[in-house]
Amino acid sequence: MSPEAAPRPAAAEVGAGDRALAARWRAPGGGAWSSREWEEYLALKQLVTASLRRWIGQRGRPGVFLYDAVGRGLAVVARLVWRVRPSWRRAGRPAARAEQGPDGMRLVLAGLPIPGNAGTTYGNTVHLWPAPEDPERARVLLNHEYVHVLQARRDGAVFIVRYLAGAWGARRRGKHYYWGIPYEVQAYDVERLLAAHPWLPDVWELPPADDAPPATRLAP
Ligand SMILES: [Zn+2]
Repeated sequence: MSPEAAPRPAAAEVGAGDRALAARWRAPGGGAWSSREWEEYLALKQLVTASLRRWIGQRGRPGVFLYDAVGRGLAVVARLVWRVRPSWRRAGRPAARAEQGPDGMRLVLAGLPIPGNAGTTYGNTVHLWPAPEDPERARVLLNHEYVHVLQARRDGAVFIVRYLAGAWGARRRGKHYYWGIPYEVQAYDVERLLAAHPWLPDVWELPPADDAPPATRLAP
C-alpha cells in the first residue's frame, strides 16, 4: 500500500494544527504522512498531554521564574568555578556559556547539571553537560529536557514539591526513586519514542491547542 493509499486517521483524531504540521514536516518517505506515521505522531501527542502542550509558546506560571533564577545563578557559578579551577581548564572543560534554545529555552552549555545527569532543567533554563556529540542524541536529550520545561511552566512553584513527592511515591510503590518519578517517566517515554522514530517532530513543534484529541491510546 502506498502512503497515498493508506487510510488516514479518523477526522476526530486530528485537528487543524496537526494537519498544518503534517503539511510542513517531512516524513521519511517524503510526501503525505502514511497511516503508520500518523500513528507514531499521535503516540507522541498522547505522551505530551494536552495539559502540557498548552504551555508551548508560553513563559509559564509565575513560579517558574524561581527555577529560572536558580538556573541562571548556577550558570554564574559554573563560570566562576571555571575561572578559579585550573584543573577544569587543563582537562579541556570549556567555560559555561548560555545559548538561546527553542521556544524560550535558555541552554547553559558546559553548565552544572545534577552530577550523573546529562542535563538538568531549572524552569526555562537547561544545564547540559556533557553536550552529546551525536546530533540525534543531542536532539532527543533536548526534547527530554523540554518536557521538564513544559512541566515546570504548567506546575510553577510546586514543580519541585511534586518531583520530590514523585520520588517518595515511587519508592513506596517499590519502584526506583528516580526512574519511577512520574515527571521522569513522561520525559523518558517521549525520549524513547523520538529515538525509535527520529523523523517525528520535536515536542516544541506540536500544536498547543488540543481541539481534537486522539480517540484511542496508542502508546506506549
Ligand atoms: Zn529528566
